[in-house]
Amino acid sequence: MMRINGETKVVGLMGDPVKHTLSPAMHNAAFKKLELNYRYLPFHVYEEELGQALEGVRAMQLRGINLTIPLKEKALDFLDHIDKQAGLIGAVNTVVNKCGQLYGYNTDGQGFLSSLELSGFSIENKNILIFGAGGAARGVSIPLAFEGAHKIVFINRTLSKADKLSRLISNIQLKKKVKSMSYLPSNTKAVERNVLEADLIINATPVGMNEEDGLPPGLIEDYLHSGQYIYDMIYSPQVTPLLEAARNKNAEFQNGLNMLILQGAEAFKLWTGENPPLEVMREVIT
Ligand code: NAP
Repeated sequence: MMRINGETKVVGLMGDPVKHTLSPAMHNAAFKKLELNYRYLPFHVYEEELGQALEGVRAMQLRGINLTIPLKEKALDFLDHIDKQAGLIGAVNTVVNKCGQLYGYNTDGQGFLSSLELSGFSIENKNILIFGAGGAARGVSIPLAFEGAHKIVFINRTLSKADKLSRLISNIQLKKKVKSMSYLPSNTKAVERNVLEADLIINATPVGMNEEDGLPPGLIEDYLHSGQYIYDMIYSPQVTPLLEAARNKNAEFQNGLNMLILQGAEAFKLWTGENPPLEVMREVIT
């Protein structure tokens, strides 16, 4: 790896917590492979101090920063320029420092779309069902709407959040078919019908991360069938109960690892102008 010297450019991740992040390993391995004089560091930043931390990016001339929970939304208040899609999503996960001006982007959506593309799945005219209505659901559903999905349905524990997200998408894409529902027992039939009709089912909740977890609430294995594509945004564990169910039903599936790598790759390109070695990034985090 190139030695750190007076010309080393620094990038990193801000969040609270950052202890478990895989991003430093992934980016530093890519810098090493391409012999780029960069280093990626974790910075534990509390929400109340985000403004000061971003001033620090400017003052210390860091090249850029990734942002994670809980800073992605608040960052919009402190940046000089916000990319259109990041503005619509209302969250920034990548900041680029261009001569003291901070530019905000959201690479999660692009990472997600590229991971589907890699597996040969086309979004055009597809029925999409998303479990969850938090940051991850918002980050992928807006790009999906722009990419020509036929219909998007949100199923969420808190109905008001799903309603808000579907309103947002309907406002951006006026003709888009968007629906929101909770998984209350009174909705069982509607949930079943929408799962059966879905071409792509996405888990954008953390349900499946813990050992005692099952399928996203409302979902029953028998609703899944071959011909569907099941996407779990969780990357640890690599096989969640949802993906096991997909395998049992001969549906296609993938976990969140490719998305993690590809959203990182987009940030890497924004900072360095170079295409990162994806296989090297994958090797160090699996
Ligand atoms: P978030 O903003 O906190 O949203 C969490 C969503 O999950 C909300 O809709 C929440 O419902 C729902 N939820 C949480 N616990 C639940 C439970 N026990 N039962 C039912 N629903 C539950 O989090 P996020 O940023 O969207 O992240 C969601 C998941 O995506 C996480 O597992 C994260 O690791 C993953 N992710 C992966 C990548 C990647 O690169 N692969 C990127 C981003 C996120 P309520 O609205 O009712 O609270």
